[in-house]
Amino acid sequence: MAIQLFVPSFDIEACLDEMRVCLEKGWTGMGFKTAEFENAWKQYTGLPYAHFLNSATAGLHLAVEIMREQYGWSLQDEIITTPLTFVSTNHAIVQGGMKPVFADVDETLCLDPEDVKQKITSKTRAVMFVGIGGNTGALDEILQLCKEHDLKLILDAAHMAGTRLHGQTPGKDADAVIYSFQAVKNLPTGDSGMLCFADEEMDAIARKKSWLGISKDTYARSRNPGGAYKWEYDVEYTGYKYNGNALTAALGLVQLRRLDADNAYRRQIAEWYESGFASYDTTIGLVPIAENCISSRHLFQIVVDKRNQLLDYLNQQDIFPGVHYTDNTRYRMYSYAQGTCPKASYFSEHLLSLPIHLRLTQEDVDTVIRAITDFTARN
Ligand SMILES: *Cc1c(COP(=O)(O)O)cnc(C)c1O
Repeated sequence: MAIQLFVPSFDIEACLDEMRVCLEKGWTGMGFKTAEFENAWKQYTGLPYAHFLNSATAGLHLAVEIMREQYGWSLQDEIITTPLTFVSTNHAIVQGGMKPVFADVDETLCLDPEDVKQKITSKTRAVMFVGIGGNTGALDEILQLCKEHDLKLILDAAHMAGTRLHGQTPGKDADAVIYSFQAVKNLPTGDSGMLCFADEEMDAIARKKSWLGISKDTYARSRNPGGAYKWEYDVEYTGYKYNGNALTAALGLVQLRRLDADNAYRRQIAEWYESGFASYDTTIGLVPIAENCISSRHLFQIVVDKRNQLLDYLNQQDIFPGVHYTDNTRYRMYSYAQGTCPKASYFSEHLLSLPIHLRLTQEDVDTVIRAITDFTARN
């Protein structure tokens, strides 16, 4: 049997039950379950606001655009960001009207505070921090730096559903935290995401902008006193069709119940990998988890010399790892920054993400470890 990188798991009957409620009610759009999931997410994370969207990409875009407008940032003002991420992170900065300025990563694969400091200019307005694989990296130091330099902090928490730092959900001091519930993330719903602003007014604006700029959503209008469907509304912004729907929210509600247990098993898998590699005394590099961080373990990444050959070799053994990520400055879009982040560039060529999901057994993990150590012993 092939060993895949990601295979999401669902409590199928519970998911169907929760979705059935939507189907019976005849309400599959925004409202009702989406509000229930938002409340559940606020309770789970302790974050004050949560707006359910159809993706994290949408949330990142709204976060940048709304902050730029509210704070009066100029077009092309700068946001310091990482090149070692899914392009969605950096596209959001461009689409929000700002310029991505790339800083290098440290050994945790997250932004290095020292290099962030070097990249601050008079045009810097915010830092975009990505918690790669669920790791918090130097988030505390970055936050401190943001305070000192009067910069806003946006946390791309696409990998961080369930991560804890100092026992709490990280990002309580960030200006916006964005989660992904995409098909292979830790809380998979097909496609959806959550935008958690720290500011009430920004949350309210996000609710309008994610619904074509319309000032009251259909559900709220149908709930007018008297029960009459109120069709009139105002349009305050040229918004987007970014809202989440009741069906994915229903999946999210069910998946949230198992998130902590799922993540605990992911951490178990990570421990199996770590102790396995340690006992073989190989040249395989492991990525350190930050102190005081309990990682969601969205990823288990290793650093190896002949990455591409190892990848081919593992594929021949029916093992299918992944790569997170290609240094974004290698893409034409961001090539203006090529050469500015040597560590990210190095990792981009040497990182490998090993299979990590709920259906993996210890035997599967041993199979992967054996294949990798066989390869490294001979190469
Ligand atoms: C998956 C991912 C996103 C985008 O999430 P979607 O919900 O698919 O839009 C953004 N940033 C990172 C780091 C991701 O891994």
